[in-house]
Amino acid sequence: SLRLGLASLLMIGATAMSRAQDDIGSRVNVLLSKMTLEEKVGQLNMVSNGATLRWEDIASGRVGALLNFNNAQDIARAQAAVRQSHLKIPILFGLDVLHGFRTQFPIPLGEAAAFNPTLSRLASEWAAREASYVGVQWTFAPMADLSRDSRWGRIVEGFGEDPYLGSVLTAARVEGFTKGGLATATKHFAGYGAPQGGRDYDTTYIPPAEMYDTYLPPFRAAVEAGSASFMAAFNALNGVPSTANPWLQTDVLRRQWGFDGFVTSDWAGIHELIGHGVAANGAEAARKAILAGVDMDMMGELYVRYLPEEVRAGRISEGVIDEAARRVLRTKMRLGLFDRPDADPGHVDAIFPSTEARQAARKVARETFVLLQNRNNVLPIVPSARSIAVVGPLADAPQDQFGPHGARGHAGDTVSVLQGIRQRAERSKIQVNYAPACDLFCKSTDQLPAALEAAKASDLTVAVFGEPVDLSGEAASRAHLTLNGKQAEVLEALAATGKPIALIIVGGRPLELGKLADRIPSIMMAWYPGTEGGTALADVLFGDVSPSGKLPLSWPRTVGQLPLYYNRLPTGRPTLENNRFTLKYVDEAITPLYPFGWGLSYTKYSYADPIIAKSRLKPGDTLEVSTMVTNTGSRAGQEAVQLYTRDPIASRSRPLRELKAFDKIALEPGETKRVVLRVPVESLGFHQDDGSYWVEAGTIEVFLGGSSLAEKVGEISILETFTLPLSGQRASS
Ligand code: BGC
Repeated sequence: SLRLGLASLLMIGATAMSRAQDDIGSRVNVLLSKMTLEEKVGQLNMVSNGATLRWEDIASGRVGALLNFNNAQDIARAQAAVRQSHLKIPILFGLDVLHGFRTQFPIPLGEAAAFNPTLSRLASEWAAREASYVGVQWTFAPMADLSRDSRWGRIVEGFGEDPYLGSVLTAARVEGFTKGGLATATKHFAGYGAPQGGRDYDTTYIPPAEMYDTYLPPFRAAVEAGSASFMAAFNALNGVPSTANPWLQTDVLRRQWGFDGFVTSDWAGIHELIGHGVAANGAEAARKAILAGVDMDMMGELYVRYLPEEVRAGRISEGVIDEAARRVLRTKMRLGLFDRPDADPGHVDAIFPSTEARQAARKVARETFVLLQNRNNVLPIVPSARSIAVVGPLADAPQDQFGPHGARGHAGDTVSVLQGIRQRAERSKIQVNYAPACDLFCKSTDQLPAALEAAKASDLTVAVFGEPVDLSGEAASRAHLTLNGKQAEVLEALAATGKPIALIIVGGRPLELGKLADRIPSIMMAWYPGTEGGTALADVLFGDVSPSGKLPLSWPRTVGQLPLYYNRLPTGRPTLENNRFTLKYVDEAITPLYPFGWGLSYTKYSYADPIIAKSRLKPGDTLEVSTMVTNTGSRAGQEAVQLYTRDPIASRSRPLRELKAFDKIALEPGETKRVVLRVPVESLGFHQDDGSYWVEAGTIEVFLGGSSLAEKVGEISILETFTLPLSGQRASS
């Protein structure tokens, strides 16, 4: 009877939900029936705060959404303006809230290195809580663009190169933002992360099967996690700009995945259809975009200007406008905008960062640091050390610590690396000798002597170098990935002192280390670690917490290896090392410097006794692999246990390895845990160009370990070939 009770409760729940949907549906229809064509089109218009904003457009119902309003006073003022309009339809307020609002969390690529969806949820929830406190309702995030090319500056905003990791984290981010009170615009749909040559905005060529297998899964995960909206990408995919691409915005997103929120263009993206050469003028651009399924025009004003006339002239039907307006209004109702009070001008973000938010930011940041190498155990700093030198242009650079899209972050809130180290060193009575060594862009080495002196006078040097924030993010593609300015030269000189040195890299992408990887024993990637970056880094440098980050992308030896990714296809060429005609470079190793999934700790983990629960799988079954993991060192730590598979013989060539599951576990010294990882057999297939998904009968190899170099632990066989409905692959849990 308990079961019956539960079942009927569930049914009542489901009925209540569909009734709520019906209610919204009919409320929207009533509203639409009262709207003029101009008012409907007004809902499709998004404009930015700033010099070009016309307040009278808000008051006359010609604006459906506003961006770049980032405080309660401005938001309340716009809300008062819209109340003068005929139907008083609430405006949707959007902002780029990517990794924090006032409290800055690590940039998304760094957060991905935590391999910990719980932390991704936490960071996004905090960002949303702070932003929604001042009245922001909608974030242009998460960025679900997979990228295999670190030249692309926006790699900093995503999760790296892996579709499975990307799907798990994109879903977690959507859930976190939503829980914290922000609707999401998952972006940039789609293929934006693969521009040729890593040049932001440039053309992308990705065959459909590869889109479905690699680039689309994180977006699909966002739909399933309840993303309220999507943003179309700027660039052209296979010759068709995403903003005018009905295959993306209608066939895949709506028909195949059942998405029923709305799609916005990116900034002036509709206008750019003229630049792309697929529209002769604004009217044609507007027509192409709306017919492709782009409902909202961000900062183009082409919809308001041309769509009413396009309808009157019979070039598009009013039904198309109704449908787009319906999607926007439905979303506004679902978000409760019609029933919410206006923003309270008393809500100022100066109340942040709260102690709790700081703790969360510190907790997340600690897990993002990736210890790339640690020869002679230079790290952690031992309690017996008497003095440390802190050198480098990023040691005291609070603004750079935010990374791109710092929203309302204040440098004054931030604990710099230097401050964090000083506070912690004081507790252990360790002296800190600080010298910047060089500045980030300068060509001079004037400050080097002081830095060398500090290094020589100290037991250990912590060198904080990397990539200034201006070299990372949108429109910051790089043709060189070396440390800019005189940084490498300065580091060489520091290494030549013969004193132990740990290099901490602050930046938004892997950098080319060249000889430094040999000369410097210990290297840690710290990304842009945010408001609590300094405290979090000190926690790890002094060994209060062991590093546990893993690389969410392959770290190249040189820019010439890009694009570079672990889950590449095999070739038919001989693999013997002494064969001249194999896959290789004649002047560089073919392997990355550090592989995907890589990251050391201050302790060691051993893997033993892998068990595959069932080795012959039918449709509906689950691949279940377990292993014993032991912390064999003397410090507590966390390990991201990773499961990879390979389909060695299939009707298409399949990747050498694919991440299919992971779990991050905590282990005390000497402790052993059995870790169980599960993969639905439905996740072991691949797509065809038409979007159909096949799981083929045959062998699947299974690998398990702490990086993409994981060892093979066995094989299973799939007993029969089966297909799933269009684009049927789901992320496993
Ligand atoms: C970026 C988007 C961003 C938008 C609004 C564009 O240039 O591509 O990612 O959301 O600006 O700031």
